[in-house]
Amino acid sequence: MGRVFLVELEGSVYRCKFCRSHLALADDLVSRVTLFLSISSDTLCFQLPPRKAYLFNTAVNVTVGTPEERMMLSGMHTVADIFCCCCGQIVGWKYETAHDKTQKYKEGKIVLERGRIVEGIDSDFYLDTRSGASDAEDA
Ligand SMILES: [Zn+2]
Repeated sequence: MGRVFLVELEGSVYRCKFCRSHLALADDLVSRVTLFLSISSDTLCFQLPPRKAYLFNTAVNVTVGTPEERMMLSGMHTVADIFCCCCGQIVGWKYETAHDKTQKYKEGKIVLERGRIVEGIDSDFYLDTRSGASDAEDA
């Protein structure tokens, strides 16, 4: 109890931007989506800038928060925020229930926000490091 067991995925993976834990496999990517979110209350309503996100069949190393009703452009959904189980940062949310029939395919699926994850395999990072070092030598 209280211990965190991290799952290591193999292949092309998406990782937590904050702690690099593996979160999802590129093979489980359903689609790339753009999020249009607005905040509204009785007195004001404003549109947030669109954000990019990825829809996945499944994710690992995440904990699911309390489900709540959320109004989205595509209708009312019951969603739960998901957190990286290693560092505790919010990385996206899970669709628990879609109230609109056309959105039912999303149920049980995971949205990871692009700004909160990094894409790619380890060698990408090593390549970046090497090119940075050679620039410094030339200067
Ligand atoms: Zn993390």
